[in-house]
Amino acid sequence: MKPIDSSRLAQSTSIKTEICIIGAGVAGISLAREFVGTRHDVCLIESGAYALDTETQSLYDLRNVGYPTRQNFMARARYFGGTSNVWAGRSMRLDPIDFDRREWVPNSGWPIAFADVEAYYARAEGILGLPDTRLLDEKVDAFLSGTGTDATLFRTGELRPKLVTWGRRPMRFKKTYRKEIEKSPNIRIYLNANATEIVTGEAGNRVECVAAATLNGNQLRITARNFVLACGGLENPRLLLLSRDRHTKGLGNDHDVVGRYFMEHPRAIFGTVRLSAPLGASLLLGTPLADGKMQIGVGPSEQIQRRERLLNSYLSLEPQLSEIALQAYESSASVVKVLTGKGRRKRSEVFGGRMAEIGDLAYLLTPKEVMPHFAYRHYARFKALTHRFRRVLDLTIVNFCEQVPRADSRVYLSTSRDRLGLNTLVLDWRIDREETASLVRLQALLAERLSQQRAGRVASPDLRTAAPSYTDASHHIGTTRMSADPRLGVVDASTRVHGVANLFIAGSSVFPTAGSANPTLTIVALALRLADHLKRLP
Ligand SMILES: Cc1cc2nc3c(=O)[nH]c(=O)nc-3n(C[C@H](O)[C@H](O)[C@H](O)COP(=O)(O)OP(=O)(O)OC[C@H]3O[C@@H](n4cnc5c(N)ncnc54)[C@H](O)[C@@H]3O)c2cc1C
Repeated sequence: MKPIDSSRLAQSTSIKTEICIIGAGVAGISLAREFVGTRHDVCLIESGAYALDTETQSLYDLRNVGYPTRQNFMARARYFGGTSNVWAGRSMRLDPIDFDRREWVPNSGWPIAFADVEAYYARAEGILGLPDTRLLDEKVDAFLSGTGTDATLFRTGELRPKLVTWGRRPMRFKKTYRKEIEKSPNIRIYLNANATEIVTGEAGNRVECVAAATLNGNQLRITARNFVLACGGLENPRLLLLSRDRHTKGLGNDHDVVGRYFMEHPRAIFGTVRLSAPLGASLLLGTPLADGKMQIGVGPSEQIQRRERLLNSYLSLEPQLSEIALQAYESSASVVKVLTGKGRRKRSEVFGGRMAEIGDLAYLLTPKEVMPHFAYRHYARFKALTHRFRRVLDLTIVNFCEQVPRADSRVYLSTSRDRLGLNTLVLDWRIDREETASLVRLQALLAERLSQQRAGRVASPDLRTAAPSYTDASHHIGTTRMSADPRLGVVDASTRVHGVANLFIAGSSVFPTAGSANPTLTIVALALRLADHLKRLP
């Protein structure tokens, strides 16, 4: 159905539907697609339109009082397609251990099993345009049976290969899925409609309607049988906290859990590896595939995590760049910034915030992430051909952390207000010593393994004098966490808000723990699972 521009509707409009999905980002679109061409009547309520608009984007402005995140960095995109408009496409599955209650990780344990999510991973990978994992398993097995230093690193079972994949290009949900949804006669898209409050009935245990507003002052009221909040990991808790008509502390917040347990995946470039013999083309460094790209990261095995009470972090190894190469990267990034500034502003904004830390950027956005697929394939072929003359001996360690879920790492409402008169958010992100301790131990395990094989050595900085400096990853996790116990979580195992019969949440805000995997693949898998659940409801 043709999308509806809410700013052109009457000043006050009532909408009736069966399923109301708020937010047309990764989670909202993945969910809506499941209803294309079905008998279910669905409304997709989206804050933005089809392009970035600075006024709408500014509704996301927040104040950070915790661990510093990147300055002026666009960590979320507020228009159709959501943050998939700018994401990098790095995808990983969570591990089975991530779902367990681990007594050394406070507040850990999901109320669902790994198998419940695993059942949806293959389809989610298809939606994200990722390579076929069945073929990759064979590739990984072949790699592990090799005799090179890279494969034998994993022989003792202390270290575990972590599979990371990318599609041919990062899946842009707007470009790929917009038409399909628009063509579906049972789905209505409302653009420029900002949900402002979730209104419950007198008993407070059922949503009656969602109030929404446009920036030019129109008011919408959407009534539905079921509602799904899919506004991202920061905005989902904000909307609950803003919904105070019958719940003074916010909807779903009787136990003061909404907004708490905020987690990211802190990343740090620290530590280097000097190999004794050059490493050739290796899955450790990444490789192109016909339908995407893959890389093997290094993580602690489940056994080691349990024995040494470690978090589930991992590291990837990237060829170290010379000063000259770093300068070349900086110049090309500047050129990209200028060029993209003309027509593709959002991309330049992504670069813009990071220009000052170009050294880190070169390792976080490696050729795998920034080059178009065909160019990366040529680049990799050229590298393989010239390998005999090139000595890749020095590697930089890029560390990706799991965080401990802590109640004091959180978002909450500020007294300042946005253009719609709604309280903005304060972010208080905490990182503690457990994260660093797990990374340091992982580096030590790598060092032990390399030294046993006489294959090289690891130089980790002395943490007494040089604390790692972490970068946020724009992964917003845990703020409406899943738990069977309403005192410890906001949603139950079906992702329904405790105590509210017809309100569900989609997105990484429902993850009780973050694992070390980038969240988007699991966001899609959980959205598919929620669609199945909604279809079964009377
Ligand atoms: C630069 C960058 C790179 C990234 N790279 C990766 C990566 O490599 N791998 C990975 O896994 N993840 C990555 N991410 C994170 C990834 O983009 C998010 O995990 C994912 O987009 C979250 O999906 P979502 O649907 O929960 O939220 P979003 O995609 O942000 O969608 C939320 C939607 O809700 C709408 N909305 C918000 N508030 C309201 C409201 N009040 N009313 C109506 N609509 C509203 C928004 O406009 C938006 O369309 C990256 C993020 C950034 C910024």
